[in-house]
Amino acid sequence: IKASVMEGDKFDEEQTELHEQSKAQSALEKLQAERKTLPIYQYRDELLKAVHDHQVLVIVGETGSGKTTQIPQYLHEAGYTKHGKVGCTQPRRVAAMSVAARVSQEMGVKLGHEVGYSIRFEDCTSEKTVLKYMTDGMLLREFLGEPDLAGYSVVMVDEAHERTLSTDILFGLVKDIVRFRPDLKLLISSATLDAEKFSDYFDSAPIFKIPGRRYPVEIHYTKAPEADYLDAAIVTALQIHVTQPPGDILVFLTGQEEIETAEEIMKHRIRGLGTKIAELIICPIYANLPTELQAKIFEPTPEGARKVVLATNIAETSLTIDGIKYVIDPGFCKMKSYNPRTGMESLLVSPISKASANQRAGRSGRTGPGKCFRLYTAYNYYNDLDDNTVPEIQRTNLANVVLMLKSLGIHDLLHFDFMDPPPSEALLKSLELLFALSALNKLGELTKVGRRMAEFPLDPMLSKMIVASEKYKCSDEIISIAAMLSIGNSIFYRPKDKQVHADNARMNFHAGNVGDHIALLKVRSMKRARDIRDQLEGLLERVEIELVSNPNDLEAIKKSITSGFFPHSGRLQKNGSYRTVKHPQTVHIHPSSGLAQVLPRWVVYHELVLTTKEYMRQVTELKPEWLVEIAPHYYQLKDVEDSTSKKMPRGEGRAS
Ligand code: ADP
Ligand code: MG
Repeated sequence: IKASVMEGDKFDEEQTELHEQSKAQSALEKLQAERKTLPIYQYRDELLKAVHDHQVLVIVGETGSGKTTQIPQYLHEAGYTKHGKVGCTQPRRVAAMSVAARVSQEMGVKLGHEVGYSIRFEDCTSEKTVLKYMTDGMLLREFLGEPDLAGYSVVMVDEAHERTLSTDILFGLVKDIVRFRPDLKLLISSATLDAEKFSDYFDSAPIFKIPGRRYPVEIHYTKAPEADYLDAAIVTALQIHVTQPPGDILVFLTGQEEIETAEEIMKHRIRGLGTKIAELIICPIYANLPTELQAKIFEPTPEGARKVVLATNIAETSLTIDGIKYVIDPGFCKMKSYNPRTGMESLLVSPISKASANQRAGRSGRTGPGKCFRLYTAYNYYNDLDDNTVPEIQRTNLANVVLMLKSLGIHDLLHFDFMDPPPSEALLKSLELLFALSALNKLGELTKVGRRMAEFPLDPMLSKMIVASEKYKCSDEIISIAAMLSIGNSIFYRPKDKQVHADNARMNFHAGNVGDHIALLKVRSMKRARDIRDQLEGLLERVEIELVSNPNDLEAIKKSITSGFFPHSGRLQKNGSYRTVKHPQTVHIHPSSGLAQVLPRWVVYHELVLTTKEYMRQVTELKPEWLVEIAPHYYQLKDVEDSTSKKMPRGEGRAS
């Protein structure tokens, strides 16, 4: 479209418009023709009949067969959207947005009209929306307002094999509502794995299989383990590029930072290879990649060039990129783990499961025979990798979902119909935390504080911080802080090639003296923080907390923060490390923190991240007596009294 607008000078206005229309028309026809080439197309009528005949259906089909983009459209064409919406859940934000964008193109409608998406803090739907893609977490939240999902005629829990925490909770809730809503259709769709298990759980629901086209994939292992998988991945990609026949490359990496590093090194080495080799187009894709850049991975590779997609797990099953012929699998992903004893959650780079390894390999055999290069040994594969990934519900903090289930009136959590139950220790731990935050009373019932907290789509500690800001009369400042924390680290975005610049920018943050590029980046994340803040402001109104600003009373702001985060308190040790107060553990202030050089005696932190050490990220100084004042049921004087008579010279009296 851009090109034709540029040529537009040659036409008069009317002609341009006609030209545009016919171009859009032929693009639409092309998309319609493409739809018919997907494996699922042949089963369209059979599938619709199965949906008609059964209330609950498990659908299994290879990634790329067309489940996510086509099934909701088929249901729409068959009239299911006349009396309600078709909702389709995705475990990942990017997938929900990208698929909705694709389906709106295929239907020739504007995104947000008939086809829309809803992800946390971003609702791109309207009155018109009949096909709604959303994260599983968003559908979960919809239960709070509409416990029978009355607005839906069909719910499709997609990517069920991912077994995210929200998907697992959804299973229990939708299984319950199909009993009293015979008009509601429920589809559970998954990429091949665990179909029997889903069927068993949903009272022996029939399984509809979509046979995929899968070409043979040649698997290559390394002879010896790789010491540096990132470097090995880059070397392998460049080798493929210079020695192998045409076909795009997909590399699985663990996160944004690693992807940026890989991109930078690759660009550098390609320059070193001279001008004789074919063009290599590098396309990163990860959850926080700005929307404008996400579309790039789907653009067809120009003749003579090759594309290399550097992706997180998102490309394992959530997104299908056409044209991939080579997969490079270092064998790792970032995985959440949770220690219910200490309540500590961390995100660790961990080995993937065999099931994941096979999904990854499969990405290379969609359009023709493929090759998968595993950067680990065959011995590792057969002996060290687990068969399946442990479902998230068994390795995460449950406080959030417990609060939500309590608000839905589900009290007996130990007997909730979990497909795989969480460890009871983890459930108890979250009940304890919610009690400590005053969200539950001694009987485990929701309190007024808890009801207010549940309105916020945030972790309970953050919600509590907001609810507490009423008492300290600084709700205005606190929702700004909550919004900034919610966009994560992207506010101080450090593009690999501008890290020094970015770090200086952060240092100069108060002075406001930053380069133009960084300023632009900041504006983009600032806009998102602004949007989130606006929504939090709306939610404040809903729970009847007045918006009050108190910018000069830092103590009030810090006390609000402490009201939510008091379980995350730490005390300075002689050697400059910290000791967490409740479940003693050694931690450190993250070097990026403004307090890293200050080392206050007492701090609260937002989260722990484990890299080379256990680091506290987002740290605020506090006075120990606040802990006893704010959480007397949690801290006693003896917890916060100084056992050392020798006072620390640094950080003295800095609180407030
Ligand atoms: P499944 O859910 O079975 O894995 P999908 O419905 O996601 O399959 O994908 C079907 C086809 O649609 C694939 O060929 C994929 O490349 C294409 N597709 C999906 N999303 C997009 C997008 N955002 N842009 C371009 N093509 C897309
Ligand atoms: Mg899909």
